[in-house]
Amino acid sequence: MISKLIPDAYYHSIEEIPYTTLYDHQIRLILTDLDNTLISYRKTEPTEELFRWKNQLIQMGFEIILVSNSRKKRVEHFAKLLDIPFVKFAKKPLKFGLKKAIKSASFKVSKEEILVLGDQLMTDVFAAKRMNLKVFLIQAIDSKTEVWTTRMNRKLEMHFLKKIRKKYPKLYEERLKEYAEGPHDRTEM
Ligand SMILES: [Mg+2]
Repeated sequence: MISKLIPDAYYHSIEEIPYTTLYDHQIRLILTDLDNTLISYRKTEPTEELFRWKNQLIQMGFEIILVSNSRKKRVEHFAKLLDIPFVKFAKKPLKFGLKKAIKSASFKVSKEEILVLGDQLMTDVFAAKRMNLKVFLIQAIDSKTEVWTTRMNRKLEMHFLKKIRKKYPKLYEERLKEYAEGPHDRTEM
């Protein structure tokens, strides 16, 4: 099971991801988490940077779908403002939400064409890996705003990170060390 908690890569922010390379490698659909991956929970509107990010990716030929575990109106609100489709109450790490999003894509998409983005091992990475999808772990924007379920997941994360370090030292070093041992979110930097 713990191999399913190892992301394909770790990035400090969504802006750092090499989208051109991904496009060259046939990635076409991006399924992204909302809170603390794209935007701080403190924000009620998308930032200028987020609009720019989205526009740039759409222009490059990617399709983006929000997949959030949140049940709040907030998901819909952001999706509307950004003009992208969404799945809320996705129940990650269950496959349900990601599957629903894939089905709703505007084209028939194969697994090799999908990239999942998220800031949590226990939900985003685990859900993606259970479906054998490529997933990048993103440093949380502002972990102080995390809800209680997320705070519980963070404790679980620490437990599994130690196991991964023992069993897969090389992968841990490459993809998780910085995440595990660095500042937990960007506001702490
Ligand atoms: Mg999140």
